[in-house]
Amino acid sequence: MDNTKKQTALSTLGEFGLIDRLTQQIRLQHESTVKGVGDDAAVLNFDKNHVVITTDMLTEGIHFNLMYVPLKHLGYKAVVVNLSDVFAMNAQPRQITVSIAVSSKFSVEAIDELYEGIHLACEQYGVDLIGGDTTSSMTGLTISVTAIGEAPKEDLVYRSGAQPNDLICVSGDLGGAYMGLQLLERENAVFKVNPKEQPKLEGYDYILERQLKPEARGDIMQALKQLNVKPTSMIDISDGLSSELMHICKNSKVGCAVYEEKIPMDFQTKQFAEELSINPLVAALNGGEDYELLFTIPLSDHDKIKNDPDITVIGHITAEADGSQLITAAGSAIPLQAQGWNPIAKESE
Ligand code: ADP
Ligand code: MG
Repeated sequence: MDNTKKQTALSTLGEFGLIDRLTQQIRLQHESTVKGVGDDAAVLNFDKNHVVITTDMLTEGIHFNLMYVPLKHLGYKAVVVNLSDVFAMNAQPRQITVSIAVSSKFSVEAIDELYEGIHLACEQYGVDLIGGDTTSSMTGLTISVTAIGEAPKEDLVYRSGAQPNDLICVSGDLGGAYMGLQLLERENAVFKVNPKEQPKLEGYDYILERQLKPEARGDIMQALKQLNVKPTSMIDISDGLSSELMHICKNSKVGCAVYEEKIPMDFQTKQFAEELSINPLVAALNGGEDYELLFTIPLSDHDKIKNDPDITVIGHITAEADGSQLITAAGSAIPLQAQGWNPIAKESE
């Protein structure tokens, strides 16, 4: 937050004043949005398409730390993580609703910043903000976003369609967001001991961006359409590759073989992992928050995707009885474990 700006208490606006301020700049873009903010409910019309709906809630201290996460980035990310879920269904996001619970420690200007990020994500991804709820909280900030998307019924891709011999693909690279978080946590710990020390973040812009300003891979969904490839199953990587692979395997009743040396990782991810003496593979497998797409395609579609620099084949689907295996660089098979990201377990640690 920019503390040089004047800070106005939320109580000066009241609930309705705040809602007006946060929603006044909305310009609706979609024909499917019949009515947005301003009535008892929004009204949507999707004609013949199927509708997908997804929600995520983020709470201060559990999902984000305002010591190092700027509110504008938080707003942007809260929207993007939901759009990522819509893309993972192979659907096009159209609308979002945003609900916030705020304590009196937040000023009007702070909530403005949060909404700057929200509006920016709406603009960037072409979605309409059509409503939400605004309430107060005793302590921190909670933000819940619901995204609504559409797709022709036959386009939808579920977690359940993977078949033995399908190729397993991922977009982009993995583990960066987790390493970015480790860097921010480290510098925050230093700051707590010595507030005069400048944070050492140079040279790590990529992993910081992966953590603070993730993007949802609608471009990959579009690219696959253009290549005439419909994934047999798909999921977005929010909790780490391991746990997402296990979701696909469980839902599709199949096994998988994934090759360690094929998992795409950025140079900075590996470099910072080395600096912390951790295996970067752990960041890719169990780190989470990469918001890349993990999907399976028929083997016969390999030629169509093999020249796309943003798509990497990391393994193949096997029979359920073969289990979920990671094949190490040395050639041994180890069972994948879904660690995922469990805020409840983390809290009690
Ligand atoms: P109600 O009393 O019917 O719940 P509200 O007074 O809560 O209505 O909200 C008025 C309008 O503003 C509604 O259209 C609602 O969807 C919208 N709205 C409320 N809070 C937010 C928010 N934080 N962001 C976006 N729209 C909001
Ligand atoms: Mg309300």
